[in-house]
Amino acid sequence: MSWKPEYTFEKGMIELFEGKVNCCGCSACMSICPKQAIKMEVDLNGFVFPKINHDLCIECGLCKKVCPFQTPQIFDRETIATYVAINNNSDVLLNSAAGGIFGALTSYIFENNRVVFGRAYNNAMEPEHICIDNSSDMIKLQGSKYVQSNINNTYIETKNYLKMGRWVLFTGTPCQISGLKSYLGTDYDNLITADIICHGVPSAKFFRGYIKHLEEKLKGKVIDFKFWDKAKEWGLIGKVFYEKNGKVNMKMIASLSSYYYSYFLRGDIIESVVMSANMRVIAEKVIL
Ligand SMILES: Cc1cc2nc3c(=O)[nH]c(=O)nc-3n(C[C@H](O)[C@H](O)[C@H](O)COP(=O)(O)OP(=O)(O)OC[C@H]3O[C@@H](n4cnc5c(N)ncnc54)[C@H](O)[C@@H]3O)c2cc1C
Ligand code: SF4
Ligand code: SF4
Repeated sequence: MSWKPEYTFEKGMIELFEGKVNCCGCSACMSICPKQAIKMEVDLNGFVFPKINHDLCIECGLCKKVCPFQTPQIFDRETIATYVAINNNSDVLLNSAAGGIFGALTSYIFENNRVVFGRAYNNAMEPEHICIDNSSDMIKLQGSKYVQSNINNTYIETKNYLKMGRWVLFTGTPCQISGLKSYLGTDYDNLITADIICHGVPSAKFFRGYIKHLEEKLKGKVIDFKFWDKAKEWGLIGKVFYEKNGKVNMKMIASLSSYYYSYFLRGDIIESVVMSANMRVIAEKVIL
């Protein structure tokens, strides 16, 4: 389906939002722009917001049209069914933040040469969305990471897979699923979306600061961080993996004594956007 602008703009007049409270940084506008005129930039608090290069912009209006804040889409609000379940594979369950339903969905998807998008850390411990196509990579996406992730080109990649007829499972925050759906602009039978229950994300900058703080304390290089580790008990303990003197070490983190968890759980460091009910319901096929 091709978009057509319904209005025209004078040169330099396209503005994506009036205040940051009207943008969740979903990246739909950046992904749709035919001139790559939009870049996601990091603000002082470390959250990403789109910025238009008006020298490249041709005023087509597509970015405003796909913005889930500015052009809310109407979808069926009826809950189809509600299930409570837990994964019966203990390995998958241990590596999951909660009941491991993401693992179950992913295993189902992989049975038929399908692909899964979700949130991982890159080599610099930066949070970003990636695509995986095999079970051994599933662990990269498992576990809640309480940080805003970079969408990169994953909406565009998703569309390419869908057009090729491949099945896609796309997971993310409700904002990201809304952004993806708005960007796609049409329903695909071969797309499954799953959005996590989410009360907001801290910024990548704040997380980077926390990782640096841990590295100074541990005198090593952090290579992985699990917000919830279930090895001893569920729900209160995290785990950090770090390299020191050529060896990989790990240390448990008591969430109640960690400043990152405290600020996050109190809601002090999450993005200022409050999701409207309208956006929340356009997102899901499955809620994790
Ligand atoms: C930022 C954030 C806020 C949350 N807030 C709540 C809450 O208010 N109430 C509540 O009950 N639960 C909350 N959760 C927990 C979330 O609902 C569970 O992670 C979810 O139930 C996953 O369960 P699982 O065991 O099936 O998945 P897991 O196997 O743990 O898989 C994790 C899934 O979450 C996705 N994911 C992880 N981190 C992010 C991220 N930062 N951005 C986008 N996608 C991500 C991965 O792509 C993957 O699909 C939050 C999680 C996150 C990441
Ligand atoms: S109006 Fe069109 S060209 Fe300009 S930033 Fe938006 S999508 Fe890109
Ligand atoms: S499309 Fe997403 S990133 Fe772009 S202005 Fe709208 S909410 Fe912000």
